[in-house]
Amino acid sequence: NDFKQYNLSREILQALRDLDYISPSEVQHKVLPHALNNVDLIVKAQTGSGKTAAFAIPICENIDWLENKPQALVLTPTRELAVQVKEEFTNIGRYKRVKAAALYGKQPFRYQQDELKQKTHVAVGTPGRVLDHIEKGTLKLEKIRYVILDEADEMLNMGFIEQVEAILSHITEPHVTMLFSATVPDEIKSLAGRHLNNALDIEV
Ligand code: AMP
Repeated sequence: NDFKQYNLSREILQALRDLDYISPSEVQHKVLPHALNNVDLIVKAQTGSGKTAAFAIPICENIDWLENKPQALVLTPTRELAVQVKEEFTNIGRYKRVKAAALYGKQPFRYQQDELKQKTHVAVGTPGRVLDHIEKGTLKLEKIRYVILDEADEMLNMGFIEQVEAILSHITEPHVTMLFSATVPDEIKSLAGRHLNNALDIEV
């Protein structure tokens, strides 16, 4: 029961070994086969379950290193979570040289603008600052293939849902969406209904 069953590249398997991720957690075991198949998902899972790697592993596996524009966008309720998620991508994507950027308030916009001018495979951020970058043209969405809504119920509680909706409506190219939430209240269900396609429900 280890990670070899998913046909992951040796770069990803080696990074997981470095992290001492020997066998998949329950959420990883349930999510990985579908995520590697590019299916929209609604995943009910708590923090601490290993949910970050559940989406970071398939995304890192499928990153096209040569493409400079972001291929994945992860929205998080807090700056702390954005930084943690960025680090998980950097660790899991180490041997594929995956570049991730964290975008959040309270850090100068210009610093992040400069970072986004460099190669960025994965953009992770809080909704307000991400929307700011989209509207100013510093975060390009044309190459986004994965959208992750992390801790969606927390984004709802913190009043970010309108910004999340605005961001989602800017992404017009075909993409996979995965929504992770500890609870799935009606507002989250209807958000998923508007923005996900034939989503599969996974409960951990
Ligand atoms: P998360 O729920 O993504 O915040 O992860 C919770 C903690 O579990 C983090 O410290 C991860 O580094 C760790 N973790 C994630 N997946 C695994 C795994 N398969 N084996 C061991 N630890 C893991």
